[in-house]
Amino acid sequence: MSLPTLQDFRGEKIDMVCDRCDRYGEYDRKALVKKLGAKTQFVELRRIMAIGCDRRGTDKCEARFPCLLQANILIERRK
Ligand SMILES: [Zn+2]
Repeated sequence: MSLPTLQDFRGEKIDMVCDRCDRYGEYDRKALVKKLGAKTQFVELRRIMAIGCDRRGTDKCEARFPCLLQANILIERRK
């Protein structure tokens, strides 16, 4: 099973929140596709968007995409 990419999500806006770092962002999906490509994985997207998070790259950063949860898209395999 491959990880979901930008083309797997059909909504117009992609939102990202990080409770730990107190960040919130909303992004236009088409703009992201244009900029990064439709095959960009969400895990990769999260890494890019978490730039600015104080705890980026550590377990303490909890950047996630609420819109994907609503669409029932899991961006990572459960352990
Ligand atoms: Zn964070």
